[in-house]
Amino acid sequence: MSMNLVNRTLVKNAGHIAGEWCQADSGATIAVYNPATGEPLGQVPDMGVIETRAAIDAASQALAGWSALAPKERARLLRAWYDLIIEHKEDLALLMTLEQGKPLFETRGEVMYGASYIEWYAEEGKRAYGKVFAAPTADKRALSIQQPIGVVAAITPWNFPNAMITRKIAPALAAGCTIVVKPSEETPFSALALMALAEQAGIPAGVINMITSSQAAAVGRVLTDDSRIRKLSFTGSTRVGKLLYAQSAETVKKLSLELGGNAPFIVFDDADLDAAVAGAVISKFRNAGQTCVCANRILVQDGIHDAFVARFKAAVEQLVVGNGLNDATTLGPVINQAAIDKIAGMVDTAQSQGASLVTGGQRHEAGALFFAPTILTGVTQQMDIARQEIFGPVAPIIRFKDDAEAINIANDTPYGLAAYFYTESHSRIWKVAEALEYGMVGINEGILSNEIAPFGGVKESGQGREGSSQGLEDYMETKYLCMGGIR
Ligand code: ADP
Repeated sequence: MSMNLVNRTLVKNAGHIAGEWCQADSGATIAVYNPATGEPLGQVPDMGVIETRAAIDAASQALAGWSALAPKERARLLRAWYDLIIEHKEDLALLMTLEQGKPLFETRGEVMYGASYIEWYAEEGKRAYGKVFAAPTADKRALSIQQPIGVVAAITPWNFPNAMITRKIAPALAAGCTIVVKPSEETPFSALALMALAEQAGIPAGVINMITSSQAAAVGRVLTDDSRIRKLSFTGSTRVGKLLYAQSAETVKKLSLELGGNAPFIVFDDADLDAAVAGAVISKFRNAGQTCVCANRILVQDGIHDAFVARFKAAVEQLVVGNGLNDATTLGPVINQAAIDKIAGMVDTAQSQGASLVTGGQRHEAGALFFAPTILTGVTQQMDIARQEIFGPVAPIIRFKDDAEAINIANDTPYGLAAYFYTESHSRIWKVAEALEYGMVGINEGILSNEIAPFGGVKESGQGREGSSQGLEDYMETKYLCMGGIR
């Protein structure tokens, strides 16, 4: 199983600055591994401060030309990029499974999901509107126009190697911004393949620049310190997000932060049990539990608890653990050794704190980075596993009595990204939806993200929204024009 399976024009071993594919000045490289097998897949340049500055220079030089294009012209180029991604969807999915591990049905889904942002923003870029206000006095007129914020930087994670990039580049380019992207060092090939297709689509040199680097802190510092970067969009851990937030204070950058989550998945007594079980499996075990909107705590009401656990156990035991290249696989490996060690430690700690193991609980024989899908019951909100982001295929179940208790437990966290609940009562739907302190709520639904909706969190899960018209506004500034002397 190797990269030879992938169309070679999509496999790039270089970064991209000012329209050129380039290596690190130092000649240093980063090796990328297949998490399912441990085999090395290839290498990309390990760029640093010098290359990051060059990328900012390139994006700055390209800004005037790109922002001056008619939105319709930018739309045409974005649409061409979208069409190429769809044409190469199988190769992009294969490449992603090789470097990230998730099964092919999921990487195919991600390529389509990622592309949907490009298609959508190609259209939405034509619909940026200003406003005309009722003037305060007869001799004045007041209006506002929307302009691109300028050069932006994007730092993205490994769990969605494609979509976390398109979700930032598409609205940025549609708005008229140029961009410097630093993808995760774990999954640079998916990012570089997108870059290759953007180049083929005719997106001009310098509009998108891509830096691959293992020196994330140094690259991040250059991006935050440079006053030419007017906005930083980051998806990743809360720890790094807070660091970048603080670093951006000096140049007062606009920030979009998509950080960690601790999603509650609440099943009320009156829920449709089949739907709740299916929703919990997909929400919890998608991408081996490695998404920021994965159910992190499953809260189940007394009356339905035992029936839910029995059905959920049966469904979880149907998951097929293995290499994502096998069509039957539904649960792939986690990303690296540190991740699996952390997950195993959390499961042990939960049991030592009183949780009971229903299924799984240990590493899986499929390989070094595979963890058996796991269910724990008897979990309480005081246990570490209910307070930390698990990012692995482990489902802790907390039992509750009534709505007030469920809402209290759900909101008892500094995070506020996604929450889910299942009920057939319309009163409960409104009351619980309004009471949850989360940016997104799935109601009788375990999957909620798409390009038309505003994705984002509250509290320490971040700020800003991606997708929808709000996602475009996040890359624009409002300029107020006051016209006087009207006689
Ligand atoms: P994860 O746990 O998802 O890997 P991270 O926040 O560590 O989350 O990584 C998300 C992205 O942030 C990656 O591209 C990573 O290289 C980058 N990153 C990590 N540390 C820093 C830092 N100090 N400054 C800027 N970017 C960083």
